[in-house]
Amino acid sequence: MHAASKSPQARPAPKPLAGKAGPKQTLKPKVRTAKPAPRLPLTGLVLILDPGHGGEDPGAHGVFRGENVWEAPYTFDQAARVKYFAEQRGAKVFTTVACKEAGGHQNWPAEQVLEWKKNCRFTLDGSQVVAGKRGLDRRVRFANQIAKKHRGQKMVFLSLHFDIAGEDSQGAFVIVPKEYKPTIAQRLVNSLNGLASTAPLRVAGRNGQKNIHVLRGQNAVRERVLIELGNFRNEHDNYIIRNYETRNRFAIRIADALQQHLKGGRK
Ligand SMILES: [Zn+2]
Repeated sequence: MHAASKSPQARPAPKPLAGKAGPKQTLKPKVRTAKPAPRLPLTGLVLILDPGHGGEDPGAHGVFRGENVWEAPYTFDQAARVKYFAEQRGAKVFTTVACKEAGGHQNWPAEQVLEWKKNCRFTLDGSQVVAGKRGLDRRVRFANQIAKKHRGQKMVFLSLHFDIAGEDSQGAFVIVPKEYKPTIAQRLVNSLNGLASTAPLRVAGRNGQKNIHVLRGQNAVRERVLIELGNFRNEHDNYIIRNYETRNRFAIRIADALQQHLKGGRK
């Protein structure tokens, strides 16, 4: 059973805007060609979204009522939501990976675990998504292509993940490159802190973190971070990750952080 139980047929038919014989032009919005496009809060920002895993690589998983809760469908759902809100606010958004069946988001109840879709391709070359260095390189190479094409514009690279840690470990955290802390990192922590318990920044290659490939020096985008938005092994996190409303709030908070970032300047 899907959440969308209301079928369009069940709703009353919308009232026509004008009578049958009414003038046609009342239905048309007035077009003023001389007016410039409105400047939205994220106009001028280039956002590269990197949803973790996908294709043959489902990522980490937790368990809910005996069913595996895979990471990949949730990272893609999360990316679709971030893309939506960022674009609404005027950002130009690119995604490193796209899945055919998982193009959009799913407003399913938390009790219904998202399905793992396998038909995912790298935007770089259209090849099937694979795990490991070969796959991660394609994500970075795509980011570099975008960086080159949009040189001089404010740009952020966001890799989206959920993770597994000890049962007591709760909340989101933002991982930064080993060498420095991008400005966007603290803004994300501050923004997400209002929602979930967000740990202080973690540095790739320290604090038990692996040297995260997409954050290494080969990635030409200076403002690059990886966000782990929750721990599947923690019962509370496992619930809030499955709850689409939380994923929506995460997306809004991420868009808020991007807005702060753009206002604060620095590429
Ligand atoms: Zn992951």
